Amino acid sequence: MRDPALTQELPSFVTHLECSMTGQRYEADTVQGLSEVGRPLLVRYDLEALGKAVSKEALARRSTGFWRYREFLPVRKAANVVSLGEVVTPMIPLARLSDGEVIVKDEGRLPTGSFKARGLALAVSMAKELGLEHLAMPTNGNAGAAMAAYASQAGLRTTIFCPDDTPEINVSEIKLQGAQVYKVNGLINDCGKIVGGGKETVGWFDVSTLKEPYRIEGKKTMGLELAEQFGWELPDVIFYPTGGGTGLIGMWKAFAELEAIGWIGSKRPRMVAVQATGCAPIVKAYEAGEEHAPLWEDAHTYAAGIRVPIAVGDFLILRAVRESGGFAIAVTDEAIRAALEEVASVEGLLLCPEGAATYAAYKTALADGRVKPGETALLFNCATGLKYPMPEVEAWLDKDNLPDLTTL
Ligand SMILES: *Cc1c(COP(=O)(O)O)cnc(C)c1O
Repeated sequence: MRDPALTQELPSFVTHLECSMTGQRYEADTVQGLSEVGRPLLVRYDLEALGKAVSKEALARRSTGFWRYREFLPVRKAANVVSLGEVVTPMIPLARLSDGEVIVKDEGRLPTGSFKARGLALAVSMAKELGLEHLAMPTNGNAGAAMAAYASQAGLRTTIFCPDDTPEINVSEIKLQGAQVYKVNGLINDCGKIVGGGKETVGWFDVSTLKEPYRIEGKKTMGLELAEQFGWELPDVIFYPTGGGTGLIGMWKAFAELEAIGWIGSKRPRMVAVQATGCAPIVKAYEAGEEHAPLWEDAHTYAAGIRVPIAVGDFLILRAVRESGGFAIAVTDEAIRAALEEVASVEGLLLCPEGAATYAAYKTALADGRVKPGETALLFNCATGLKYPMPEVEAWLDKDNLPDLTTL
């Protein structure tokens, strides 16, 4: 059901946009991409007015889904909200693999089966509000699926480019949900160049990770939502599978905004950026003490969602990790596969590879002392495990010639 409050005008507290690197101000309510220095723009709000306009109690009475946080979001007209039935994603304690202090936030329950729905719902709603008609993006799969779905719902045209080894199910869902999709013999950054190249000639709008200001605002709702679910306390440590880092940056922004309006204190979770050993630019930069992460050559990992060789928001990811006292960590594809199997068979919870990477990283960090036993750890399962290839079953029975059933 559509949230009844969304049929009215939305209260919006956006004041301006701000370059995340230089702090330079940019006008809101007009189409913006990256800042002049080629870095992400962040949405800024009148937090004082926002804090007066909504209370925790009022929020508790609202219907489910991230539009419940509308005061914290940039859409000004309710008619521009594009929604496909978002839910508050459940937090599932690993009750058998831990004493319940390890908790999975299962983002696979969102529309299109991944947390990309959060970012793209906001990007597409704002595209509609700003009068854009044609959107383009490079994707490793889930972002493209979410953009296709929300854009079709909004009646906007989409053109999407993905590496030619993107899981077939992602390419198919993108096409079925109304986009024009092309496979490219390169990685996501190569696809990004194609999108950039068509901006002038075709006139499409570039919705690449962090190259427009609103996907972060959508991903920010993960931070708002988990704070509310934890009763406005925060867990000790958050493990986030990091590609472009939108979610990690978004949650960090959410916590700052919540503190500014007095809903949480200054205590922050340690933010952990999880990558795969075959593509770990952020981990390398973190360990080298660098502020930026150069292109990772020959990127490979079967966890496609975190196969991102270069991130325009690298310094924002590294800043959040360091300011929080967290760290960046890489895990092997073997460890990811083992973690996926362990959580599925022991807990009955089917993670995606990127989600499984967070559990593999948790186990490593627990073993080397970077996480203490008993600390509350939140793991992000970013997509439904059902989208990924699964092991074949060979066991077969002849109904007319059954073996002794006690031997099964
Ligand atoms: C996009 C994606 C990620 C990485 O998310 P970012 O916020 O871009 O770092 C991880 N896992 C899956 C399944 C994804 O689709």
